[in-house]
Amino acid sequence: MKKEILGVMFDDLTREEAVQAGAKLLEEDKFHYVVTPNPEFILAAGKDEEFRRVLNSADLVLADGIGVVYSAKIKGTPLKGRVPGIEFAADMLSCLSQRGGRLYLLGAKPGVAEEAGRRIAEQYPGVTLCGAQDGYFQDEEAALLKVAAARPDLLFVCLGAPKQEKWMARWGKHTGARLAIGLGGALDVFAGRAERAPESWRKLGLEWAYRLKKEPQRAGRMAKLPLVLVKAAGERLKKR
Ligand code: UDP
Repeated sequence: MKKEILGVMFDDLTREEAVQAGAKLLEEDKFHYVVTPNPEFILAAGKDEEFRRVLNSADLVLADGIGVVYSAKIKGTPLKGRVPGIEFAADMLSCLSQRGGRLYLLGAKPGVAEEAGRRIAEQYPGVTLCGAQDGYFQDEEAALLKVAAARPDLLFVCLGAPKQEKWMARWGKHTGARLAIGLGGALDVFAGRAERAPESWRKLGLEWAYRLKKEPQRAGRMAKLPLVLVKAAGERLKKR
């Protein structure tokens, strides 16, 4: 079931349900893409109609982050919980490893995708890394041709939003992949260049605070986020 938050239609799924849905997409012999919007995406989608359309056309729209869950609650249409993109990505790697399949990593600074690939291949022995490419290419089509030549089943697209979602919507079906996932900074985490918040912070819904502590330069970007909550409250009051 979909739940709308400020124009973005989220799938209301637990992590386990998201894994089941993702595993099914990975079995179907056609292209699918998954997006993992956080509050920044919601604000951006409010000003960028193409981005909103691309998000709402995805096969799965997962609530990445506590800000989305709070917004849904404030709006009066609560979600079952959050499904962080990085956790969904790890779950899809387990699925791919079990059935055996090919993974392509697209994005992040030069060298990062290769390092992430080495670590993933060690951890998920059934996964074949069929290629990796950094995310600072000039020619979108040339980047696509490299991906398609590698014949991936699963593709991680980590170019930051909205670039990664627009890239998947435009070029995804030509990659030959069954499933592409837009994952922001996930390759930096898989490569060991960035750290996720410890479990204790995550449990308290404070992953965002940990990230701010580690990357204080994000403060400007994050300062806008409470706006999503204010807008969600406005929507609820409008409905009365
Ligand atoms: N990135 C990229 N190409 C670009 C811009 C960004 O590959 O043109 C990468 C960047 O190196 C980082 C990721 O995209 O690995 C975006 O990270 P960000 O922190 O913005 O994403 P978040 O995790 O917040 O969604």
